[in-house]
Amino acid sequence: MTAQADPVIIIGGGQSGLAAARAALAVGLRPVVLHAGDSPAGSWPDYYDSLTLFSPARYSALPGMAFDGDPEHYPHRDEVVAYLRRYARTFDAEIRTGVRVTEVHPRAGGGYLVRTGAGDEIAAAGVVAASGSFGNPYLPDLPGRGDFTGDLLHVADYRRPGPYAGKRVIVVGAGNSAVQVAYELAAHAHVTLATRGPVRFLPQRIGGRDLHHWLRVTGADRLPRRVLSRLIRHAAVLDTGVYRDALASGQLARRHMFTAFTPDGVVWGDGTIECVDAVIFATGYRPNLGYLEPLGALAHGTPRQVGGLSTSHQGLVYVGLEFQRSFASNTLRGVSRDATHVMRALAAHLSGRRRLPRSAAVPASAPTGTSGAGR
Ligand SMILES: Cc1cc2nc3c(=O)[nH]c(=O)nc-3n(C[C@H](O)[C@H](O)[C@H](O)COP(=O)(O)OP(=O)(O)OC[C@H]3O[C@@H](n4cnc5c(N)ncnc54)[C@H](O)[C@@H]3O)c2cc1C
Repeated sequence: MTAQADPVIIIGGGQSGLAAARAALAVGLRPVVLHAGDSPAGSWPDYYDSLTLFSPARYSALPGMAFDGDPEHYPHRDEVVAYLRRYARTFDAEIRTGVRVTEVHPRAGGGYLVRTGAGDEIAAAGVVAASGSFGNPYLPDLPGRGDFTGDLLHVADYRRPGPYAGKRVIVVGAGNSAVQVAYELAAHAHVTLATRGPVRFLPQRIGGRDLHHWLRVTGADRLPRRVLSRLIRHAAVLDTGVYRDALASGQLARRHMFTAFTPDGVVWGDGTIECVDAVIFATGYRPNLGYLEPLGALAHGTPRQVGGLSTSHQGLVYVGLEFQRSFASNTLRGVSRDATHVMRALAAHLSGRRRLPRSAAVPASAPTGTSGAGR
């Protein structure tokens, strides 16, 4: 058994890391958050400028602190950043910013050694991986990609439409980020949305209420993936009607995904070649957990875990994985439920009361970008 004097190290200082730290304190553990960024707001400062939450403030808060303003408003990205920074001050956990974890190793006698980019080694009673997925954008490999001389980027690197004014742009993807960014760009540039199938929509409001009201009252928000996937078979874009209208009217063009790049454009399925200036892939993310690779806690980059509890390593847990325990796992409104669950299990393990599961590996989902009613 590891000395209880060692802290529980939480890797990542976004909403997941903060939720984990708060939950750790609630069960009597001593959390230390190691965060690569300069303030505990996770990746929110890096999301595109126009981003507003897909859920109203009322359904977006972490436990114990509401968003300022009208509970029905949809907070802007910058409000979320300010909210998280403030939230971090509402409890007494040590948060070390500017610290990137590079490796985690088992320690003789139990617990872990957490190695940082600065070369420090920190002893940990347990480890919480809460480093999100934004740092690991997924880009599909397509023929000719390396030869394309235009701008090729992931939507993670998109900020605002200005640099694309008057240009020919393809946005790849059928999720929320793809449709939101393509729609925004279409007012400034010649945009085609390239998708593998039809874009599906979820109404933002039903019966005068935001969808998130219904997710809460029906309990759909808490359903595990295996149940939910029987009810909802495809990812869908939250829409007040503007995106559907833009696609229907041709204001935003859509084509079936192109098959290859040329040096200055793309080849569409019918063989036509089109010159384009930029291609933006909004094709999701994968868990950003490279520091767990040396430990053997991952299977092809995805964690071996059930409900956030590692199935390969005692004392290792996860917070903020997509569909970790429910539809809302990777959202502001849902992450704290999971944090409480894994911290109770970790506290029980550290006090010798419970072993974490050692069952067949159940990797977290493949490319992210679908939960919580979308991106
Ligand atoms: C474009 C977009 C829009 C979204 N919109 C919504 C929304 O409207 N509502 C909602 O509820 N959810 C939304 N989400 C989903 C989710 O809430 C966010 O992605 C959120 O930022 C996830 O928080 P997190 O703490 O898990 O990860 P992150 O916010 O990514 O924070 C993890 C932090 O860990 C740090 N880190 C990474 N690796 C290391 C390391 N090795 N060592 C130390 N630190 C490290 C990173 O610097 C990062 O800041 C959206 C996601 C995206 C991408």
